[in-house]
Amino acid sequence: MTTREPLLRIALISEHASPLAKPGGVDAGGQNVYVAQVACALAALGHHVDVYTRCDSIRLSACAFLRSRVRVMHVDAGPACFVPKEQLLSHMPAFARGMRNAMEHAGRYDIVHANFFMSGWVGMALQRACALPLAVTFHALGLVRQQHQGSADGFPQARIGIERRLVHRAQRVIAECPQEREDLLRLYGADAARISTVPCGVDLAQFGPRNRVAARRRLGLPQDEFIVLQLGRLVPRKGVEHVVRAMALLDARMPARLLVVGGESRQPDDARTPELGRLRAIAQQCGAAQRVVFVGQRDRQELADYYAAADVFATTPAYEPFGITPLEAMACGTPVVGSAVGGIQHTVVDGVTGFLVPPADPAALAERFARLHANAALGEAMGRAGMARVRSLFTWDQVAQGLVKAYREAIASSCEQHAGARPQLQRTARTLSLGAVA
Ligand code: UDP
Repeated sequence: MTTREPLLRIALISEHASPLAKPGGVDAGGQNVYVAQVACALAALGHHVDVYTRCDSIRLSACAFLRSRVRVMHVDAGPACFVPKEQLLSHMPAFARGMRNAMEHAGRYDIVHANFFMSGWVGMALQRACALPLAVTFHALGLVRQQHQGSADGFPQARIGIERRLVHRAQRVIAECPQEREDLLRLYGADAARISTVPCGVDLAQFGPRNRVAARRRLGLPQDEFIVLQLGRLVPRKGVEHVVRAMALLDARMPARLLVVGGESRQPDDARTPELGRLRAIAQQCGAAQRVVFVGQRDRQELADYYAAADVFATTPAYEPFGITPLEAMACGTPVVGSAVGGIQHTVVDGVTGFLVPPADPAALAERFARLHANAALGEAMGRAGMARVRSLFTWDQVAQGLVKAYREAIASSCEQHAGARPQLQRTARTLSLGAVA
């Protein structure tokens, strides 16, 4: 007979990425999707989840239900309006105090799961003040970002020290892919025994195969063109310019177009999404302007049609902590051409579910597009292989089960650490400052 493990009360912290926000803008993307889906998948397993996120609008109520057993708690920390994530660190002591106050009503949690380094800072404050077990998912690592973005990285230098402390103090560190695990070991000196590798997932109810002809008809797209899709946040690090340049390298006789989905608004607006203007200029200058269409931001329920309408999905960032969009494309049966970096190397199997190419290599991209255009059967086979891969490895249910295992390990090791020691339940959180977890 198996004994049923107790259900957990889980606090997810995601300071800038609310599960209620619309993804596609500069600061709303994969982490928002991850937090929303993880919370719902954990609740589907019977656990109770409260997601703590910063109150960034005066219209938000203190607490909102995402589904049964999932609440979104809006914490007052800094102005109740959008603040770029690079400027949020100084508001984290207020966030920790606000969360501590909310917990007086919400009750005690079995585990705190922090997402991103600033939430991790809050998690360490709670770990210290309330002896709560802590798990962390970084979503991106400061040292990796600095390597790629150099002086364009606007985060404070303090990020690196906070990440180092987190790696050593969190009872469990969640790596989203083998590359992140390696980075944690190599760059941060993490203890391999405390890392759990749990990937992101894809919602198969939302993303699944559909008829390409019908999808193109619904979107008003031509049936006879080779369509390349690029979809995601429109920021320079996503390397959309390489796909734009690749379009200019395709045979002039090949009917082809690139759809670029994403940005701050439904109607593409260069003023609100500066990356659009930059890409437009690049398209003009390299001779691809006729082949590139900027679509604008789209709601999640609209995306499956875009993925299904495309002959190929392209994603070419310089680095990618995970990358949920390749999974979404694969779930819809569309082959993926992606740069061989970060999580993309793990989700895309070169030559099987698509192609991996070096980052920043438009010629390699154009060659793979031409190959898929010349051989429709290859693209279909890759699409089927991609669908099979996401179904077997990347469902949110599997992700939630992997996280629950990591949570239980974190709780067990916290119990060991505190055995005999009286939890410090003093109200230290009321006086938290940035130095408090230094
Ligand atoms: N997305 C969206 N609408 C858009 C553009 C993007 O819903 O117009 C979503 C996309 O489907 C994906 C997420 O934003 O789920 C981007 O996540 P990814 O992990 O690919 O990139 P990140 O934002 O983490 O850099």
